[in-house]
Amino acid sequence: MKFHVLTLFPEMVLNGLNTSIIGRAVENNLIEINAVNIRDFSMDKHGKVDDYTYGGGAGMLMQAQPVYDAWKSVAGGKKDTLADAEDLLTKDKSVRTIYVTPQGYPFTQQYAKELAKEDELVFLCGHYEGIDARVLDEVVTDYISIGDYVLTGGELPAMVMIDAVSRLVPGVLHNEDSAETESFHRNLLEYPQYSRPEVWHDKAVPKVLLSGNHREIEKWRLEQSIAVTKERRPDLYEVYQAQEALIKKLSKNKRHNIHMMESLSRGRGEILVNDGGNILIYDRGAGVCMITAEDEHGFRDMQGTIPADCERIIASRSFMLAKLVDIFGSEVVTECKNVCYTERNPISKRHGIQGDLADAATEAVLWINRELEMGHLPYKHVVAENEILLHMLEQLGCYVSKESVWLLERA
Ligand code: SAM
Repeated sequence: MKFHVLTLFPEMVLNGLNTSIIGRAVENNLIEINAVNIRDFSMDKHGKVDDYTYGGGAGMLMQAQPVYDAWKSVAGGKKDTLADAEDLLTKDKSVRTIYVTPQGYPFTQQYAKELAKEDELVFLCGHYEGIDARVLDEVVTDYISIGDYVLTGGELPAMVMIDAVSRLVPGVLHNEDSAETESFHRNLLEYPQYSRPEVWHDKAVPKVLLSGNHREIEKWRLEQSIAVTKERRPDLYEVYQAQEALIKKLSKNKRHNIHMMESLSRGRGEILVNDGGNILIYDRGAGVCMITAEDEHGFRDMQGTIPADCERIIASRSFMLAKLVDIFGSEVVTECKNVCYTERNPISKRHGIQGDLADAATEAVLWINRELEMGHLPYKHVVAENEILLHMLEQLGCYVSKESVWLLERA
């Protein structure tokens, strides 16, 4: 993954990101950091990049031209032809470009997951009083803030975001589990952890952690996570409770709803609607919407909630299809069975399926393990008539929906 950082202080960004895990990821070519000095694009003979603000007010503002030219050098290509000029008018925001600003949307783990899907990102760091709004309008796709306070420049926020996104890039963290268990996963903060010695300052490590009983350890950790979240982040705890209640509701028809349950319990799905039998869950990282409705009326009430940037919809009632095709501009609708792998661990190479299905099983195992490694939800859609494949996937430990679902892909 490649990060371009447009800044007046490239050395600050490079120095800040060249140690420890992120430094190693750069060395191993898992990520690349390209710090671009905006001052190099100044047309002023003294390299000036800022000026007074129109309308008065304290402080200086970064000017549009050097910022635009710096951005163009990494993302915009040349805009010399008529077609290019039209591009400009339609605001050709070719590479996802983030302006770090206190006026932005709050940066969260969910946002980090979404950004980790991109191959390339541009970060634009402001300084002084910020940047001329006209160039922001032209190049920025996302306005993101790291918190409700004002810093002197955008370099630290860009570094914070690059760190959070990089550790989600496969291979950057050695222990693939850690992103699944740490804070904000499932909207819970992480449980307390202990290392040697067993007793320190008369404080002993909780006994259960020495028991070797993994089930009990998991149970204790979940209880601790819940307690810490409840105390320090009641807002998150409320979201957690709502998710748990929905998982319970969905479990009444587990075979049909397993994709939604898994999405929530893996901390990927966001509940956009939960009103009786009308449910809409969005996995922002994968761009997938899961939707079910009690009846036409219920569906009408929530159809406006479908996010504009979702790429696929899994619908579980056929009466929604015509309208969904309309809204979504989809051309491909497949009637299929939802097949979902619910384990956390990869399937071992010795999965034990022999005979005619062996090749198909090996392919399915590769697919499941790859999805797990990428942190995705391993679900597949198999055309309803393919009984043999469905049976084989069940043998591998997947849940197969009993009723049909419909898959809509954005055309
Ligand atoms: N006048 C601006 C305002 O009130 O929103 C603040 C400008 S600040 C002094 C300079 C630069 O630091 C901003 O352009 C932005 O890039 C960065 N910055 C400051 N605080 C930030 C935050 N909380 N999150 C992200 N970027 C921030």
